[in-house]
Amino acid sequence: MRPEDGNAILAQLRSFQDMFAKGVGIVAPWHVTDIALVAHELEVRVDLADGVITLACPKCQAPSPVYDRGPERRWRTLDDYMFKSFLVARPVRVRCAEHGVHRAEVPWAQAGSHFNYHFQALVMQKAQNAPMAVVARELREHDTRLWRIVTHHVNDALGRLDLSGVRRIGVDDKSYQVGHKYLTVVADLDTARVVIFVTVGRDGDTLRRFRDHLIEHGGDPAAITQISQDMSEAYASGARKYFPDATVIFDHFHVIKRMGEAVDKVRRQEQHEQDILRGTRYIWLKNATNLTQKQLSRLTDLSKLNLRTVRAYKARLDLQDIYGESDVRIADKLLRRWYYRATHSRLEPAKTFAYTIADHWHGILAFFASRTTNGLLEGLNSLIQATKAKARGYRTADALKSIVYLIGSALVFNLPILYSE
Ligand SMILES: [Zn+2]
Repeated sequence: MRPEDGNAILAQLRSFQDMFAKGVGIVAPWHVTDIALVAHELEVRVDLADGVITLACPKCQAPSPVYDRGPERRWRTLDDYMFKSFLVARPVRVRCAEHGVHRAEVPWAQAGSHFNYHFQALVMQKAQNAPMAVVARELREHDTRLWRIVTHHVNDALGRLDLSGVRRIGVDDKSYQVGHKYLTVVADLDTARVVIFVTVGRDGDTLRRFRDHLIEHGGDPAAITQISQDMSEAYASGARKYFPDATVIFDHFHVIKRMGEAVDKVRRQEQHEQDILRGTRYIWLKNATNLTQKQLSRLTDLSKLNLRTVRAYKARLDLQDIYGESDVRIADKLLRRWYYRATHSRLEPAKTFAYTIADHWHGILAFFASRTTNGLLEGLNSLIQATKAKARGYRTADALKSIVYLIGSALVFNLPILYSE
């Protein structure tokens, strides 16, 4: 860049200095004193207006006399003209009559942050749509510092979360690392943006932690009428213990998925004898409507053969059909019939799964009365999965927890709205 270009840019920025100041969060008694280019970085110099002798005590907000000024500090702000841009100011300490000497807050950033609120808002916006490593590269910052922004605002917003209206919840686990580590996600099934709780693990204690979280945020465990979940004993026992008034509903997505796993087991056993089954895994797992033309014709051909896999597959379709039923009594009858056939099928994985169904009969039928499912939560899973697949940034459970809240919750962040990037 030629020096005269830099000068032109500075002249332009200085010409609307006051407007510019508001755009980066500088309000009275602070004001912009100068804008300068220093080593290819834009520095917006900020100071207290002349004659200001008191600022609010950070503890009690009482106007307190200025005590001293610290050395200059920099806060990263939104870039201008592609320059990495910073606010530069000398922090002020005040002496409160009651609380003594403390650093006064600045209007453009919370204490301890290296970024102004506008830059933080940009990070939150970008983190919803792209892996943090990508965001970090784009914004020319280290991703650890950006994660700190996200976790700060998620925790801050969680402090204001009101769960007093929650009645129906969905509980689901989500693996977050090779090595079988899990998060449990709890969703409010009556709101559009569903996530209300995220915690590490998927054991019996997870629902106790959710109960505590619910109470802490104005909710009432006794007001929870339905809990939709998979058939794991950990969640079921947690539900009985901590939400004894709620009806447990076994989510039909999970039931079908488990039956799909049984089909897959049958196929894996059978393909030792039947070479024709090799490479057909997805054909049996997916629904026919999601198959390619080629897969579909393969399925049609295979279906004509006398294979155990075909019988297991048909049992899965039958089970799926039952879920189309809206009358509980009819569903109960159909499910009994299905159970009888599955347990007499001589397909071990299907039999084993049928026994699991029998053990969870009540919660499976509860679906037909309520039609409550974790569908919204499932949708969220694929969204997170898509973000995760692209990301290497989820090194810790805390980071992933924050992303799940960021993408899936209705948390309201205390940040300025950015009209453009
Ligand atoms: Zn004070």
